[in-house]
Amino acid sequence: MPERPSDGERVYQGVPVSGGVAHGRVIVLGQSARNILRRELPEADVDAELARLQSALTQTRRDLLEVQRQVEEALGRQEASVFDAHLLVLEDPMLLDEVHRLIRDHRVNAESAYQQVSEKYAAALGALEDDYLRERAADIRDISGRVLDHLLGHRSERDLRSLPEPCIILAPDLAPSTTATLDRAHVLGFATDGGGTTSHTAIMARKLGIPAVVGLGDITARVRNGEYALLDGHGGVLTINPTDQTLFEYGQLKQRRAALDERLGALREQPAVTLDGHSIHLAANIDHPDDTQAVRACGAEGVGLFRSEFLFLNRRDLPSEDEQFEAYRRVAEAVAPNPAMIRTLDIGGDKLPAAWARLGEQNPFLGWRAIRICLDQPELFRTQLRAILRASAHGRVKIMFPMISSIAELRGANASLERCREELRDENVPFDPGLEVGIMIEVPGAALIADVLAREAQFLSIGTNDLTGYTLAVDRMNDRVAPLFAPTHPGVLRLIEMTIAAARRHGRWVGVCGEMAGEPALVPLLLGLGVDELSVTPASVPSVKFLLRRLRVAETQALARFALDAEDAEDVRQRSRALAMQAAPELFAGN
Ligand code: PEP
Ligand code: MG
Repeated sequence: MPERPSDGERVYQGVPVSGGVAHGRVIVLGQSARNILRRELPEADVDAELARLQSALTQTRRDLLEVQRQVEEALGRQEASVFDAHLLVLEDPMLLDEVHRLIRDHRVNAESAYQQVSEKYAAALGALEDDYLRERAADIRDISGRVLDHLLGHRSERDLRSLPEPCIILAPDLAPSTTATLDRAHVLGFATDGGGTTSHTAIMARKLGIPAVVGLGDITARVRNGEYALLDGHGGVLTINPTDQTLFEYGQLKQRRAALDERLGALREQPAVTLDGHSIHLAANIDHPDDTQAVRACGAEGVGLFRSEFLFLNRRDLPSEDEQFEAYRRVAEAVAPNPAMIRTLDIGGDKLPAAWARLGEQNPFLGWRAIRICLDQPELFRTQLRAILRASAHGRVKIMFPMISSIAELRGANASLERCREELRDENVPFDPGLEVGIMIEVPGAALIADVLAREAQFLSIGTNDLTGYTLAVDRMNDRVAPLFAPTHPGVLRLIEMTIAAARRHGRWVGVCGEMAGEPALVPLLLGLGVDELSVTPASVPSVKFLLRRLRVAETQALARFALDAEDAEDVRQRSRALAMQAAPELFAGN
């Protein structure tokens, strides 16, 4: 991305993915594997280099023992025992001997020596057939990353929970599983080299209310640890060493936003009804039971999408039926009498539990994902379905199946659910017999046969993130093609319209739970197309509600007619944005 000229400060423009302004020191996360240079040491430095290595090993050992202690506290001794294997790798005498020899006899710098030897061991193990030994290769790489981070003075994703002061994180990219664990008390905001607006990392940032900017090119190579930065998550700007004038201007922007937030907050208990009396069900997207606090605080009418897969990330085992039941029950009870829409497992794509990370598919978004995995792994699916059914006795639970692409998949999923109902009946375990069951429309082929699917699904919830990606063949994670990711493309809109029309014919309701629904500029368009529900990240609920209460359906229907006949995505976006701005200019001031 181009650097904008300015005096003294350095300004970088990226893609805004989560609003807010942060100001603080920068921490550049480790890129250990990438940039290790091999240097020849002067003879006199060899002892100091060996001591440096020893110190990095000691620090790594300390880190591992600390993580082991934390895991033991949280999950028990057995879970924590995996770190015994890590400690053995760290202390492996053969590996260390070889590193020492390279440093002493060949005068190679410690980083390069350690990386060369550990990679040799990891590659040898990784090439073996044996699953257990292949896992040891992953252990070696993990340990090597930690040791190298210490040698290079880098911080790694693993350290994010122990930052000395709240910081702005700069990273090549962040995995959704890492973003999910970011702590607002420590992380002021983050900016990444790559990434797209609908990547799960961006979605997580919005949920956490952490300002975030992605697609900044090679920002991690341009900024040094400890520099001061101002991160503008509304405009997508990262300013290094901001001048007083810049800080003043952003201070004013912050004040204006605080005043607006107060106005939006006053609508918390008000319904999402348009000026001409049309009600929209405005719900929230979550990925953790704790998020239900935010759901209530933002004034959403329940949960329209619980991304249950986040219960499966950041751990080595699978959550049991009881553990899942507790999580779903908590959500159901917290939002009752409003609905709690639990989406069954959507792992795959960019969301992979640790134990599955080795699948190594070439096209994971077109691969083994979501309902495909569940139908192939009946026990995994059964455990989740039983847990959701049991939770339905404690609130207004609904189930939705992700990534459905054919009637056979829907029938397979419905049949699995029916078997679980029968089991629970036989066991006299209560559940809600009237629980609604629907599907997500995320695959173009599913939108095209929405009339067929709507016969056997009680509702259709459109996932515009994947629907846009799959319809336009644009990777939602790839910043190079980010400008092509256009949910207002007439091709995507026609699929949405077909879905809505098919649902109407079968008396089904239709929602949108992709990120498009939370973008005020696009809300008039979705309203005009005729959706019944919008489900958005809790942070977006107040602005979407504010806007809905100032729109007239008749005007938005004219917009939808224009959009379906339009030639170009940008024309549609501009028209929809203009209508939103006319209705609620406050929401757009300063962006
Ligand atoms: C979507 O695809 O629009 C959606 C809501 O699902 P996810 O973002 O979790 O893939
Ligand atoms: Mg999706």
